[in-house]
Amino acid sequence: MRTRLVMAGLVLLLTPADPARSQAIEPVCPSPHDRTVAITFDDLPYTRAGDAGGQELAAVARATNEAILAGLAVRNVPAIGFVVERRVQALGEIGQALLEPWNTGQFELGNHSANHPDSNTLDVDAFRREVIDGEATIRPMVEKAGRTLRFFRFPYNHLGDTDQRREAFERVLGERGYHLAGSTIDTSDYVFDAAYERALARSDTAMVRRIEDAYIDYSRVEIAYYADLNRKVLGCEPPGILLLHANRINAATIDRILGLFRSTGYRFVSLEEAQAHPAYRQPPRFATKFGPMWGYRWARERDLKVNGSKEEEPPAWVTRYSDPDAPL
Ligand SMILES: [Zn+2]
Repeated sequence: MRTRLVMAGLVLLLTPADPARSQAIEPVCPSPHDRTVAITFDDLPYTRAGDAGGQELAAVARATNEAILAGLAVRNVPAIGFVVERRVQALGEIGQALLEPWNTGQFELGNHSANHPDSNTLDVDAFRREVIDGEATIRPMVEKAGRTLRFFRFPYNHLGDTDQRREAFERVLGERGYHLAGSTIDTSDYVFDAAYERALARSDTAMVRRIEDAYIDYSRVEIAYYADLNRKVLGCEPPGILLLHANRINAATIDRILGLFRSTGYRFVSLEEAQAHPAYRQPPRFATKFGPMWGYRWARERDLKVNGSKEEEPPAWVTRYSDPDAPL
C-alpha cells in the first residue's frame, strides 16, 4: 500500500538498464488473446482486524467477507484471498471460519505473511519465519481440502530492495513451493476505505455514497491507465491482476467494480491462469524499496521511461477526508 504515491519520484530516478539484461527479455505477446483479469484480495480475513478493536469487529469482518464472496459468486468470478495470520488470530474463533469459503470452488487462499512486515526491514531468516508462520492456519486448511498452497504476495509488494535480498527472498518462496503473486492494477482502495470508514463512523450517508461513487470513477480511470501502460511496455495487454483489500468499501461496491471490467470486455480468470501468460514467466528483476505495479517494473527491465506522474491520484478531497485527524 502507499506504493504508487511514490512512483513519480522513482521514475525520475530511472537509469539506463544493463543492455545485456534488456536483450535477454523475451517478447511476451505470442498470439492475440482476449482481455482477462484476475481478482485478488489482500489482508484477509479483514483488513482492520488486529488494528481496530471494538465489539463490532467480528460482525463487520463477517459481513465484509459475505458481501465480497456473494458479489463474486453471482458473476461466477474466481478470486484469491491473501491471508495475514495475525489478522486471523485477532478475530479469535471466527478468524478461520471466515476463510473456509475462500478454500472452496473457484476461490483460493494465499499467503500474505504472519505479521504484514515491510520486507525491506527483514533479513532472510526473518523473512522465512514470516512465510512459515503465515501458513499456520491456511496450510492445514488448504491441504486438508486436497489443494496446494501456491501463491505468496509480499506485504506492500516490497519484493526486495537490493538484488541480493530480492533473490534470497525468491529462493525462500521457491523452498516453500510458492509462486510470487503479481499485481498490475492498483485502485488505492485503502485510501477510499479509510475515508469510507470515517463516513460510516459519522453515519454520514451522503458522504458514504459520494465516496463509493468516487471510488468507482477512480477505479475506471486506473483500470484503463494500467491497461494502457502495460500495452505500451509489452506491446500487448497481458492478463491484468487487480489488487484489492478485504475491506468495507469493496464489500459495498464489488458488483460495480466487476461491472467495470465486464462492460469493457474483460473475462475473469484465476490468478493461476493469468500468471500462465509469458509476461509472468519470470518475477520482476529489478530491486526497489517501493511497491510499484508490475507495469512499472516491466518498463524498468526494458529500459523504457514512463512518466509515473501522469497517473492520476485519488481525488484530493477523499485523501483529505481519509485522515481521521483532519478537520471536516
Ligand atoms: Zn497487505
